[in-house]
Amino acid sequence: MATIVIALGGNAILQPGQAGTAAEQAENIRKTCVQIAGMIEAGHRVVVTHGNGPQVGNLLIQQEEASAVVPPMPMDVAGAMSQGMLGYWMQNQLDNLLRERGIVKPVVTLVTQVLVDRDDPAFKNPTKPVGPFYTEAKAQRYMAEKGWQMKEDAGRGWRRVVPSPNPKAIWEKEAIKTLVDAGAVVICSGGGGVPSFLEGEKLTGCEAVIDKDLAGQRLAADVGADLFCILTDVPKVCLRYKQPDQEMLSRVTLAQMHKYASEGHFKAGSMGPKVEAIMRFVEATGKWGVISSLDDATQAVEGNAGTVIVP
Ligand code: ADP
Ligand code: MG
Repeated sequence: MATIVIALGGNAILQPGQAGTAAEQAENIRKTCVQIAGMIEAGHRVVVTHGNGPQVGNLLIQQEEASAVVPPMPMDVAGAMSQGMLGYWMQNQLDNLLRERGIVKPVVTLVTQVLVDRDDPAFKNPTKPVGPFYTEAKAQRYMAEKGWQMKEDAGRGWRRVVPSPNPKAIWEKEAIKTLVDAGAVVICSGGGGVPSFLEGEKLTGCEAVIDKDLAGQRLAADVGADLFCILTDVPKVCLRYKQPDQEMLSRVTLAQMHKYASEGHFKAGSMGPKVEAIMRFVEATGKWGVISSLDDATQAVEGNAGTVIVP
């Protein structure tokens, strides 16, 4: 029985062009959970992590729009809200699907904090755009009043940018491990977890975003996963992506992948962190990892689809 950590992309949950109603998101999650239920039925232990970009973006818009009526919640709290919301949908759908298959297994979501370093250089250079678009006047006001960093985003308006620090440790890893060892399907570290740093002994959430694939790698290492699988919206990792001589990668060694990464084939903020996360996992564990499309998930965890990265 293999322990598999699955990292789901944002598209698995909210597809571009959809409004983002509860019914749409629950249905997208159901389709994803059909594949996960299949893996569990095949005898694998599964730990799930997921992105939260569109969901936390919408929560931040709700905070902003309702701020005259109820106090807006900061980003760390919105991140925790998104973990609960997405975790609830997954618990609900996956539990139903497992019972349909006659499988009795607890499915549990764990709100996760992820330790970052206060001295991480990312805090000096915020790069990740989040939340609503603002007029220039409002942006100037928030920069002065709230100390936010804001940037003009390709003619669409002003947007807040936050740091994207490196994940150092999954704070609740012992609790996660206990649940996994007890046979539960655990959903955790959603949206990369709530970025938190230590002030002396005190853990404090901060307004930043951790890449969910990099946090997923820490999670995979912490639960002693046999396989780390990142599911997204492309079937394979490509060299010269979207160029006429594009080449899809099926099976690559760690050394080859390092070379391709250094040649700049994988875009920062999208494929870059996925490749980096799988390379870190393979390097740290000597095991293999895979990046594939959601549709091929069942085949990918058997090593028969996607881009497989081996030691
Ligand atoms: P997710 O929501 O799953 O994290 P991202 O948008 O962050 O998805 O990353 C997946 C995207 O990475 C793909 O849709 C693709 O457009 C982009 N991408 C960038 N470079 C590559 C590459 N070399 N090969 C394949 N896809 C790439
Ligand atoms: Mg992404």
